[in-house]
Formats: sequence, structure tokens, C-alpha cells
Amino acid sequence: MKIAIDGPAGAGKSSIAKLAAQEMSFVYVDTGAMFRTMAYYFMTHGVDVGDESAVEEHCGEVQIDIRHEEGVQHIFLGGEDVSAKIRDEQVGKNASVVARYGAVRTKLLEMQRAIAASQDVIMDGRDIGTVVLPDAEVKIYMTASSRVRAERRFKELREKGTECDIDEIEKDIIARDEQDMNREIAPLKQAEDAVLLDTSDMTIPEVVAKIREIAGGKSGD
Ligand code: C5P
Repeated sequence: MKIAIDGPAGAGKSSIAKLAAQEMSFVYVDTGAMFRTMAYYFMTHGVDVGDESAVEEHCGEVQIDIRHEEGVQHIFLGGEDVSAKIRDEQVGKNASVVARYGAVRTKLLEMQRAIAASQDVIMDGRDIGTVVLPDAEVKIYMTASSRVRAERRFKELREKGTECDIDEIEKDIIARDEQDMNREIAPLKQAEDAVLLDTSDMTIPEVVAKIREIAGGKSGD
């Protein structure tokens, strides 16, 4: 079975998909990490992420490997585990910039489909239900208001001891939504057959239970 979870930044996709995957013994695949790793490579190799032809020229050099250890995804760049390094805010912003380019998307699309071909997956991203796995049995479009998403991110950063401003975070979230929804290739949008889940007023266990309920209904078909 394939479960596709799409939605804007900070809607809670990864925390929820990770938990649901654990409970259901599925493999959790975070495709955002792949775009972040591409961006991280360009940032650390002097390639201007705003220059599409430069990015395209260097795309083939980027060696990404995904491994799962006890259900947890680790992402490797040229053999180095970069799972923690790619969580940086600037890497996220640049991931959204390079995600507009066809060369980047084509490279990652092949990897994403290959991973899903051999196992039960819960895959999260922006275009999983629409482009990567259009035949996924379960499709969820997860969202929440920009304020709620900013509040969640603010709390996370504060817990890590990072100084931050909630209005700035919300502004960044709105800008990222705009960029992801309005790009030409594989823009963020709800697939026609996706279930819309607004998590603004839901707790994490409630959302996980809802996904299990939807998936349970499908597997019993
Ligand atoms: O989900 P995350 O914030 O880690 O994703 C970083 C960026 O990668 C997104 O803002 C989006 O531009 C891009 N992305 C994408 N397609 C996906 C997953 C992520 O374009 N399937």
C-alpha cells in the first residue's frame, strides 16, 4: 500500500507520517529531505541556487542515498549522513528555490518511485499524490492556517534554544507556500482524490488516528 501525504510547510506532515508509519510498520519517506540535500550540496559547492543552468550542470554530481535504520530515515550525501545539517532554515528556503527546476525534480522523481516500488510506504512532500505516486491507495492533503504553522515552528525553534520572531516565521511560511504553489512543474496542490485534513485544531494523535482510519477503510476494500 502507498500513502501519499502532501501539504504546505509546517502542516505537521513529517511528525505525523513518521508516527503513522511506525504504528503501521510502513517505511516513512520524507521527500523534502531530498530537495534539502540537493540545495545543501549546491550551497556547499559554490553553485548559485538562483542560477538554473548552473544547478542543472551540477545536478549529476549529487550523490544521494536514503537508508532506513529502525524505521528512521537517514539521508546521505556522498557517503556523509547530512540528516541533521539539512534542517537549517536557509537550506529549507533554498530547497524551495531548486525544487522549481526540472533537472532537480526529474532526478529525485526516479529515486522516489524506486523506493515506493518495493515496499509499503508513507511518503510526504508536495507532489506525491499528484505526480510521484498518482496511483497511491490513500492520499491526504494536510494543511493548517499559516499562524498555527508559524506557532508550531516557533515552539520547535525555541525548544532548541534558537532566538526567533513569530511574525518573521509566518512571513517566511507564506512566501514558501506561494513559491511552492505557483511554480510551473509539480506545484503544490490537492490531488482530486485526496482527503483534506486541516490540522489547525487537531492534536498529533488525533491526526494519526484519522490517517489510520482512512487507510484501514481502503485496505478493507
Ligand atoms: O518538506 P520540506 O520543508 O522539507 O521541503 C523543502 C522544500 O522542498 C519545499 O518547500 C518544496 O519546495 C520542496 N519539495 C518539493 N516536492 C516535494 C517535497 C519537497 O518541491 N515532494
